[in-house]
Amino acid sequence: MSSFCVFFGKNLFVFPYSLPLQRIFKIDKMNTVRLTKEFDFEAAHALDGYGGKCKDIHGHSYHLKITTIGKPIEDAANPTCGMVIDFGDLKQIVKKHILSIFDHYLILRKDSRFRGLEKTNPRVRYVDYQPTCENMLIDIVGILQQHLPDEVKLHSALLRETANSYAEWFASDND
Ligand SMILES: [Zn+2]
Repeated sequence: MSSFCVFFGKNLFVFPYSLPLQRIFKIDKMNTVRLTKEFDFEAAHALDGYGGKCKDIHGHSYHLKITTIGKPIEDAANPTCGMVIDFGDLKQIVKKHILSIFDHYLILRKDSRFRGLEKTNPRVRYVDYQPTCENMLIDIVGILQQHLPDEVKLHSALLRETANSYAEWFASDND
């Protein structure tokens, strides 16, 4: 019988070709997939108390990258069979719960010296954190985790503030 050999670490294993590959490599178990969708939004913020020019109101074209992780649904009767999460569903979750409170909003600390702008500009959102790229990302992750389906886990998220500046969050860093 013909066979082939594979090294696992220092151990050499010899497999007869007659064995199904799935039994040898457990291919049926290797079905965890990361699924990413990207979004763009415009927002303004001010870093009250900061020493640099970011203390005053200015804006960014933010780029948000959401990566989920899970196993494609196997139930053939499920309309999302073969998907970790429907890209469309992820888009709707982000649109409804994130973009609706960030896109074209001015994000300010609740004790900001700019308080009162909402009288003439209703798209002001007050938050209980300094609205840096890092803190906005943490806020976004917290909101997303409340709205993702139970079987879908958030793997990571990235918020890009400028072409060469971004913050990243990884579930593995926050276990
Ligand atoms: Zn900024």
